[in-house]
Parts: sequence; structure tokens; C-alpha cells
Amino acid sequence: EQWDDDPNKRLKMWAGRQGLVPSLSKVRRGAKLVPLVEDFGVPISKIPETIRKLQKLREKHNFPIPIFGHIGDGNLHAVLIIDGRKKEEWEVARKIAQDFIDLTMELKGTLTAEHGIGLAKAPYIHHELGVGQEVMRAIKKALDPKNILNPGKLGLDDQVKDIYDFFTYKEFIEHPEKIISFGQEVDNEIFACINCGFCRAGCTVYARTGLESENARGRVIQAYYLMKGKLKPSREMAEKFYLCTTCLNCKATCPAGVMVSEIVEAGRRKLVEAGFLPDIHKTLMENLKATGNPFGEPKEKRTDVFPSSFRPRSGPVDTLLFVGCVASYQDINIVPNTMAILDKAGVSYTALGKEENCCGYISYLVGTEEFKEAGKKNIELFSKIKPKQIVTTCAGCYKTFKELYPKYLSYHLPVVHAIEYLNQLIQNGKIKFKDANSMKVAYHDPCDLGRHLNIFEPPRELLQKIPGVTLVEFKNNRLLAKCCGGGGGLKAFHTDLSAEIAYQRGLEALEVGAEVIVSACPACKANLQVAAARIRKEKKGRLKVMDITELVAEALA
Ligand code: SF4
Ligand code: SF4
Repeated sequence: EQWDDDPNKRLKMWAGRQGLVPSLSKVRRGAKLVPLVEDFGVPISKIPETIRKLQKLREKHNFPIPIFGHIGDGNLHAVLIIDGRKKEEWEVARKIAQDFIDLTMELKGTLTAEHGIGLAKAPYIHHELGVGQEVMRAIKKALDPKNILNPGKLGLDDQVKDIYDFFTYKEFIEHPEKIISFGQEVDNEIFACINCGFCRAGCTVYARTGLESENARGRVIQAYYLMKGKLKPSREMAEKFYLCTTCLNCKATCPAGVMVSEIVEAGRRKLVEAGFLPDIHKTLMENLKATGNPFGEPKEKRTDVFPSSFRPRSGPVDTLLFVGCVASYQDINIVPNTMAILDKAGVSYTALGKEENCCGYISYLVGTEEFKEAGKKNIELFSKIKPKQIVTTCAGCYKTFKELYPKYLSYHLPVVHAIEYLNQLIQNGKIKFKDANSMKVAYHDPCDLGRHLNIFEPPRELLQKIPGVTLVEFKNNRLLAKCCGGGGGLKAFHTDLSAEIAYQRGLEALEVGAEVIVSACPACKANLQVAAARIRKEKKGRLKVMDITELVAEALA
């Protein structure tokens, strides 16, 4: 037991309590709590004995049986975590349920202390009610001869059915040929969701639209019915799936840790197969195929932002600076500043210049095949230069090289984000800083770097090494950082919504007194700059938005 009057500690204690049931989905991916006889009550004095006996049942059936409950009421929840798509697991579950009943009866308890009988306990309740159930049946029949009141419940029908007969999983066992799988991994994520809705708290899209179909739970449910063939891909559904920034804020508040972004991306692939790729994304993909970048810019312009001092190296190099499309075409500072730092630190590096191709992340996000084509082109270029490592300033490119190329293209090459690389250079004494004016800096965690890859502290460590920088934190930071609104293809799909989300993030920075928002992703920077301009106009607030490389370059001794 733990008691506390502190509201913050109380919230934490409640979070543990509320997250208990959904977190059971983490015991085994694809399996979750299925209620059978999960709610028995025993005399309080018998609780220790009950728990010991339940633990023995766990060993007997070699099955995970988490136990929790309301000890003060003598109410125990010994629950079954099963993969409802597997017949053999149902069979074991039924045997365990029978053992639970025998144990409860032996201890003179009750089969349900608080949840009621409903459908789940209907086949078992006669063990407790005995002949009394026949009397209840007769009364029900007299009052409800057509059996229209709660049919199937309480075991009062002539024919008592098992929960399985009513259960949504039945089709998975009896008609697997009708199931439209997303692939084992994603199917398991969909099954892990228990529809609790905790994920709604941090979803920036849902915060603006207020539509259940546009939050994580709503999307997982749509994916589930898509899988069962009960929902068909449609333009309307595409609207829901493309209105997601894949920011994973939902996962941060989901006790089951459901990878909603993977479900959304897989759902988008299904929508693309069915011909529902939104027009704007079609254009981006056509551009990607024709020009090697989603903006349709000429390849030659990629080097416009390169400093005149840059000399490409041919042949093997230690470090390849992968610039990325946003930094190449939509930002004039990130590339020259990054190169200035590398030059100053004496790094032997090169960049692909006009040859560089989009990493393909945008294609992966919107669910099209161009991702693999883009990846293959880059891999071909990398194998000519044979770099020992890739450095990139873009969180999206970083995630793509780190996770997606190994997974989908079996290509493994060490990749570091500029943040990690700059920290190394500082540590090795290759970068020195001069004194600088003081400024309050708020670090915006890019979703692809933070929640997706768990890089939270290195950028903060880097910023704190820069003279004059006082780091202030957004109210929502690290795991709970709000998205800038630019992720998941949302900026192209719904520019206004994306800008509104960025604006809210900008206001958050203003609230904590930040003068500068620093990020580590050109796409975040671009979206937050739009927000800063609006804040200047509407709130007379002064906010500068910079990439972390710019701040480092400005402070170089
Ligand atoms: S995704 Fe949402 S609804 Fe599903 S388990 Fe997680 S928090 Fe609950
Ligand atoms: S990934 Fe982000 S935008 Fe998408 S459902 Fe989750 S919280 Fe909402």
C-alpha cells in the first residue's frame, strides 16, 4: 500500500492503476486479456491461500496468469492472456477457467465479485447457483417469453453459449481465409490494443479535429475491421489514415505500447493498393521518380546551398554527409553550417551533391513502392564511395538508414545523426567554442529522433556545452513532446492543420520564455518557422527557429 497527498504523486499512482490492464498486452505480443472467469471473490482470510493455489495453476498449465485485485474486498482478478486467434489457446483457457471455478467453490467464494455474469460467465454460473438457476430461468421465461431481454446473458437461455461463440475472434479461427492480414508484426500490434483510449491524451491531430476516427484508437479499430474485411478501403478511410503525423505520441501514453505508426503505415499501404493514395502524395511520388526528390526540383540545384569551398572526394572516404531533400532545397543555412563545422574540425568527408537521391522516407510514410527504388539508388551510390559511416542532419533520413534500409533492403551501414557526431567531435577536442551572448533555447524533440529512436539526452548535452545557452524545456518534452505537425506526410496532405499544430508548439515555447527553438531536423525547422512567423504577427512574440548545427556553427571559436 502507498498513500500520498501530493497531487503529482497521486497522478503517478493512478497512472499505474489505470495502465494495468492495457499493459498486460505486453506479456506476449498479439495476446491480451480475455475475460472468462476473471473476477472471483473469496473470504478475505482465504486470499493468501487463493494466491498460492492460483500460482500452482499457472505452473500446472504452463500459462501466464497475472493476478491482481481488490484485496480489501476479497476480490481477485486472475486473468488469462491469450492469443484469441489460436484455437489451442482457447482450449487451454477453458480448462484453466474450470480450475478457477473449482477453486472458488472449494473456498466457498463467488464467481463474480464485481464484473457480473454477462456472456463470459454464463456457461459456468450454474456451479454457483445450482438449482437456483433453474428457478431464475423459469422466471425469465415467464417475463420474457420471446427472449428479447439480454439474450445470451446470465446463462438463462435454453441453450447456453460460450463467450467464444459471441466473440469477435471467432472468424480468425473459423475463416482464416477471409482475414486480410497486415503481416504478422502489424497484426500483433493491432491485437495488442484493448481500446482503452489513453492514447487520445497527446494526439495533436485529435486535439484539433476532435474526431474519434482520427486518433490512435480510432485508426487501430479501422485497421482491425479492415483486417476482418468488414470495412473496405475508401477515400473516407484514406482521409483518416493520412491525417496522422506518425509522431507516436500515442505510444507514449499507451500502456500497451502499441506501435500505432506501424499500423497507420501498413494501413496506408493497403489504401494505396486499393487505389486511394491522395492526389498530393501521387504528385510527390511522381516527382520522386522523375527528379529524385519529392519537390520536383532539378538535381543540379541540390548543390546550390553548398559553400564554394566544398570539394567532393572521389574514392573511399571515412564520412559521407547525407544532406537530405529538405536541407538541399528548402533551407539555406543547414548545409553550409554543417560543412563549416566539419571543415573546422578537420573531418575527411564528402557529400553526394547532384547525385544524391531522396532517402525514400516520404514514400515509406505514404505507403508506396518508390521507397525501395529510392533506397536501391542510394545504396548503389554508397557502394561506390564505401564510406565508413553516414552523418545526416535529418531525423527522417537518420531513421530511414538506421531502421528501414536494414529491415526492408537488408542494407546495414553505420549512420549517426549530426547531434551524436558533433558531441563526439567536441569530446575529442576537435570543436572549440567562443564566448557568446546569452540566449534561452528550447529544444524541440523531432519525433523520428526522440520517440522513434530514443535520442533525448544527446541534443540537450550538446546544447549545454555551447557558451551562453540556457536550456529551457517545453512543458511537453522528451517522450511527451508534441509533434511539430510536419511529420507523416501531413504537411503536404493538410497544410493548414499541420501549420496549426506547429503554431501550438510555438506557443508552448513562448510560454516557457524561450527566445530560440532549436531542433535537429530540417522538416521540423521549416514547419516551426511558419509558426514563428504567425506568432510574430498575431502575438508580437519573438521566436527564432534554428537547426542545432546552426547554433554550433555560430559559436565556433
Ligand atoms: S492504442 Fe490507445 S486504445 Fe489501444 S491500447 Fe493503446 S492507449 Fe489503449
Ligand atoms: S501517431 Fe501521432 S498523430 Fe498519429 S494517432 Fe498517434 S498521436 Fe495521433
